[in-house]
Amino acid sequence: MQTEITPKITTVDHPLVQHKLTIMRDKRTATPEFRRLLREISLLLGYEVTRHLELKQVDVETPVGRTLAPALSRPEPCLITILRAGNGLLDGMLDLIPAAPVGHVGLYRDPKTLEAVEYYYKVPKDMSERLTIVVDPMLATGHTAVAALDLLKRDGARDVSFVCLVAAPEGIAELQRAHPGVPIFAAAVDDRLNDKGYIVPGLGDAGDRIYGTK
Ligand code: URA
Repeated sequence: MQTEITPKITTVDHPLVQHKLTIMRDKRTATPEFRRLLREISLLLGYEVTRHLELKQVDVETPVGRTLAPALSRPEPCLITILRAGNGLLDGMLDLIPAAPVGHVGLYRDPKTLEAVEYYYKVPKDMSERLTIVVDPMLATGHTAVAALDLLKRDGARDVSFVCLVAAPEGIAELQRAHPGVPIFAAAVDDRLNDKGYIVPGLGDAGDRIYGTK
């Protein structure tokens, strides 16, 4: 179900992911369908990003007898959404990992300094014990992702994966430069960024399309 491009980038090439993404790219796809498809894709992306979670054997008594059976060896992963578009990926992930604690990171870019400025930040206390899955549909310049990961690592996150729908080569390069140990999972790697920082061909502004704000 997955294709390795480099050890740190996984494009999830499952036919259903690709089919749903094509419908999402279409500018005629309206908000309700866009949102539903994003939720469906996020479940499939979540399946891939959690594929290598470690298991341990636990003793379990079934109605028929005792056995050793696999269970997660660490607490469930935590999910970190980068506001606001990240929330579109969150619900599907939570369907998959209902016990996951959820953190929210809000950043905007100061127009003068171009530095990422935090406007909201609330994350689980025990990230160091969990796989920390950061979600944001569009990995464009990579600046927001890098700033978010800087904060999360400052606060203890050690085992971090980044999940997006569409990545630009520029964003991948920036994230890998700043956080080389962080695997990236994407449904597609597109051609480039345009001069406004949008991914080409991309799907437009993910936040606007999820929330119908344009
Ligand atoms: N953010 C978006 O929502 N879309 C892009 O193409 C780039 C950044």
